[in-house]
Amino acid sequence: MLADRWNAIHQRIVQASHRVGRDPNEINVVTVTKYLDVEQTKEILDLGLDHIGENRTQQALLKWKELGDRGTWHFIGRLQRRKVKDILNRFTYLHSLDRFSLAQEIEKRAKAQNTSLKCFIQVNVSGEKTKTGISPQDLKEFSLEVANLSSIEIVGLMTMAPKTDNPEEVRPLFRELREKQRELQQLNQPQLTVPHLSMGMSQDFEVAIEEGATWIRLGSVLVGERSEET
Ligand SMILES: *Cc1c(COP(=O)(O)O)cnc(C)c1O
Repeated sequence: MLADRWNAIHQRIVQASHRVGRDPNEINVVTVTKYLDVEQTKEILDLGLDHIGENRTQQALLKWKELGDRGTWHFIGRLQRRKVKDILNRFTYLHSLDRFSLAQEIEKRAKAQNTSLKCFIQVNVSGEKTKTGISPQDLKEFSLEVANLSSIEIVGLMTMAPKTDNPEEVRPLFRELREKQRELQQLNQPQLTVPHLSMGMSQDFEVAIEEGATWIRLGSVLVGERSEET
């Protein structure tokens, strides 16, 4: 059942890639397990889906305690500063670096623990007030400041599109994130190669792939919305 769903989605990923002449292997999937309990999350790992995405620290840490010896863990939600110490050394990626105070806390804690964190800078491309993220106008300055922090590896940019029934509506937002990536790359800073774009969710992952996503974050389309607590 889950395997069937994944096969169907994988086909869609391959087709979307081919529509724009991309290699489907460039597309990495984070399975968003926030709707799932430990047992169901284990099924995801058993299926070979290795990248687990969680958006709430408490739930995330409970699951990590049970399953953290497997998979690669991505924190995708808003992260409170006081939780940074819990995420480090457990989660490999943060998709939601959205303010400098958070970056400073990561730098401080990671240094002390002699570790580092791979971060996506979250950009609020849509400008929605309910969404966090750096505004496109502030992105360059923010990125240059974060690039100075040795314990943060900026791996790319992330955005969340507004909810929509028509994914074509959000295509311009994905395109803009890619444009922002290009602008940062043109600064030619060694810490700002920003190779990745984390964009696209259940509603719009095919459009995101067409626009250059290298990480897509899939929840409901893959796992349904069982026991959602958000
Ligand atoms: C929940 C969530 C997703 C996945 O959403 P679906 O629509 O269920 O695929 C992706 N990214 C973030 C940041 C989320 O919070």
